[in-house]
Amino acid sequence: MKVNDINHKNFRVRDGDLKDNAELKDGIKLKDLLVTGAKEFGIELNPDEAETFFSYMNFIKTWNNKFNLTAIEDDRDFIIKHFLDSLSILPYIKKFENTENINIDNMSIIDIGTGAGFPAIPLKILLKETNITMLDAVEKKVKFLNACISTLKLRNTWAFHGRAEDYGHDIKHRERYDIAVARAVASMPVLLEYCLPFVKREGIFIAMKGKNTEEVSISQKALEELGGKIQEVREIILPFSDSIRNIIIVKKFRQTPPNYPRKAGKPSKNPLI
Ligand code: SAH
Repeated sequence: MKVNDINHKNFRVRDGDLKDNAELKDGIKLKDLLVTGAKEFGIELNPDEAETFFSYMNFIKTWNNKFNLTAIEDDRDFIIKHFLDSLSILPYIKKFENTENINIDNMSIIDIGTGAGFPAIPLKILLKETNITMLDAVEKKVKFLNACISTLKLRNTWAFHGRAEDYGHDIKHRERYDIAVARAVASMPVLLEYCLPFVKREGIFIAMKGKNTEEVSISQKALEELGGKIQEVREIILPFSDSIRNIIIVKKFRQTPPNYPRKAGKPSKNPLI
């Protein structure tokens, strides 16, 4: 894998860019979708990596009936909305590597509320040496993740069952990560309370959000209390679609006070707004 510097707004791929859109259902064309889409984010996948993505997709499909892992069943949507969406933050991880001078292989990343492993596992497929931890409150999802780790032979990858509010106080996890990420877990003020406690000072939290960014304007109190500041809000359009996403980068500039996160359930019931 190679990640080039990119400016998301500079180029967009559309269905017409694929050689033969009519055959998208075919495995090879699906691979084109993944490889061409990843290129939009400046990522060059090698054939082994592309193969691993499809093993992961098949693994989710096999477990989906029993474990309710995703509502997306169409392969094309799966690639765009799960894989390419997850990969959209990789350029920001690379940017962090460059500005902070930490080798990406030595970094620790935690994905809070990872579900079936998004964005953690797509990132892991490319970041083979990086330490990646996944946390989810639902035990059966963590069972699935552990099976996935061994089937896909993912190194330096761990899955834990628990709530962010509890793990955030555990000294093995508190302020131990260079980067925390989260997709589709909670509103921004709640997410900040879940995620910032895990981040080292000078580390970042990357929130993956949908179209609307109003939540950012109500996050001031949470940012101030928890020691974060918004560094960048970047709108992107997922390749081969009209789906708008926002990537919000929060820099942690001071330690989070020990009373945060508050006890389980409290951040969502009574957000810091
Ligand atoms: N990030 C995944 C899953 C999103 S669904 C994706 O984008 O596909 C939200 C997930 O967050 C669920 O799996 C839920 O169990 C988990 N979750 C919600 N609140 C949590 C908390 N306080 N601590 C840990 N996990 C939580």
